[in-house]
Amino acid sequence: MAAEKRKNLALAVGLNMLLPGLGYIYYGKWIVGFLGGGLVIAIAASNIAQNTLVVWVAVNVLMAIDMLLLNSRDRRRARDSDSMQCRSCAELIRAEAKKCRFCGEEVAQ
Ligand SMILES: [Zn+2]
Repeated sequence: MAAEKRKNLALAVGLNMLLPGLGYIYYGKWIVGFLGGGLVIAIAASNIAQNTLVVWVAVNVLMAIDMLLLNSRDRRRARDSDSMQCRSCAELIRAEAKKCRFCGEEVAQ
């Protein structure tokens, strides 16, 4: 089982600051990235927004918060895949374990 390469949150937020949506694309969320980026560019291109910079910054803050949540969910999932529950004592043990470190029960792979 190959561990999924951990994404760099700072890089994602940085990319997103450059161009909204780019951070999502980095996370593999192409649709959200293109839609979000397209929306911001559309707002910037039209004169709907009085102040494009405000929209740009607001969207960036929202996206950064969302990516922060995405990142912690990623980490939780990675941790979960590293462990499993012992069938004998129900303690969480390493997925690679052959023997439970709590009760000593042999664990079937
Ligand atoms: Zn056990």
